[in-house]
Amino acid sequence: MFKNSNDSSWKKQDKSFESSIRPNYFDEFMGQEKIKKQLEILIGASLKRQESLCHCLFSGPPGLGKTTLANIISKTLNTTLVSTSGPVLEKPADLAGLLTSLKERDILFIDEIHRLAKNIEEYLYPAMEEFKLDLLIDTGPNARSVQITLNKFTLIGATTRSGIISSPMRSRFIYHARLDYYPSNILAQIIERSANILNTPITQEASHLIAKRARGTPRIANNLLRWVRDFTQMAGKEKIDHDISIKALNMLYIDDLGLDEMDKKILSIIIDQHEGGPVGINTIAIALGEDSNSLIEVYEPYLIMQGFLKRTPRGREATKLAYEHMKKKLPKKMMEINQ
Ligand code: ADP
Repeated sequence: MFKNSNDSSWKKQDKSFESSIRPNYFDEFMGQEKIKKQLEILIGASLKRQESLCHCLFSGPPGLGKTTLANIISKTLNTTLVSTSGPVLEKPADLAGLLTSLKERDILFIDEIHRLAKNIEEYLYPAMEEFKLDLLIDTGPNARSVQITLNKFTLIGATTRSGIISSPMRSRFIYHARLDYYPSNILAQIIERSANILNTPITQEASHLIAKRARGTPRIANNLLRWVRDFTQMAGKEKIDHDISIKALNMLYIDDLGLDEMDKKILSIIIDQHEGGPVGINTIAIALGEDSNSLIEVYEPYLIMQGFLKRTPRGREATKLAYEHMKKKLPKKMMEINQ
């Protein structure tokens, strides 16, 4: 329920909560200091020259702030942000409509840019490079192409799978930033800020506890906070403290490293059914009844980051750490390695 989801209906449902706590300016955006500094330079220079900002690509797991950064950039530049996503753009005309609506220095934000259809991608290249668009008018013998000059806009692409973006597409982005998982002290600050906006008193101990279970991800931290706030209210208390947070989070079966039931199922399939792997991602996905893309984009990166999973050319393998965390007996092959 609290997993980072790309599901659009889920996103819609949470829109008002999200928009109330979404940072609008760089000083409200916690962490990712290196990226913020680089962006401030790029933005400062483009403001000085009164030119459009260069095209930017943000990559990293869902919920780390890619969309938020795009919004902050647009607010800082005082331009309009037009938002769409890769799978929504089906025909070149869809893209043409958006591009021609952009004013000088406006921002076009394309989420999930790795899911852009090939023909749309090719259509985008001259638009990004020369601010030109070749439109095909009519079909059959009357077909002819007209070239339209676009206003100088900025494309911001966001992706959870930078590895599958084609190299011609990637090379057209001048600036590429990879967002990392957040350390828990920064997540605790994000939780305290959100609790403040939501008018919910919280102790420092509680914000740190929730932060540790938020998988390094601001969106999950905020969602957990919301759950703990509801739990606290139903318990008739006014302040979120350590004890009530533990009770609330235990009810979601989230352990002290942020692993939930799904993570544990993944590890258990590899350990119990495939002797620790290697096992293909599709086999794991079928066993779970999940889509393999969501395993790759949402679950796997955190398990890898925590050192529980290894991605090898032959498939996914559980590590010694995973066996220990899951309290499983180490197989012989691992005992030998560790001797
Ligand atoms: P992504 O586009 O990478 O999936 P979002 O930008 O939608 O992630 O971020 C999810 C939510 O997390 C946002 O609504 C925002 O409230 C919060 N958030 C993300 N990054 C930060 C940050 N650095 N500081 C504070 N809140 C953040």
